[in-house]
Amino acid sequence: MDYEDARKQLLSERARLERELDVFRKELELSLEEASGESPYGQHPAENATAAVDRQMDLTLEENLRFVLARIDHALDKLEAGTYGICDRCHGEIGVDRLEVAPYASLCVRCKQLEERSR
Ligand SMILES: [Zn+2]
Repeated sequence: MDYEDARKQLLSERARLERELDVFRKELELSLEEASGESPYGQHPAENATAAVDRQMDLTLEENLRFVLARIDHALDKLEAGTYGICDRCHGEIGVDRLEVAPYASLCVRCKQLEERSR
């Protein structure tokens, strides 16, 4: 099978995520600057608390983006190595149907389910 489409899809998804990550970093820097510019013991403790929660959410989203990016990089590595489409765990075929839905999948459906159950 030719995985050229998968490679293109992974690369464009990767570029999109990197742009999103970039936006996040800038927003995070701005919100950190805003927070440090104002006294933490100022007039609006509730607002400060909200800003802290927002930053926490930003961090979680950033972690999420990084996680997906890492999976995409792993899939691209597998494309380079010629092991794309092969399950990391049982070395069986991941299956074209699954790769079409999730081009960065590195486990077959069965192993994925096993992994999720063991968590
Ligand atoms: Zn497997």
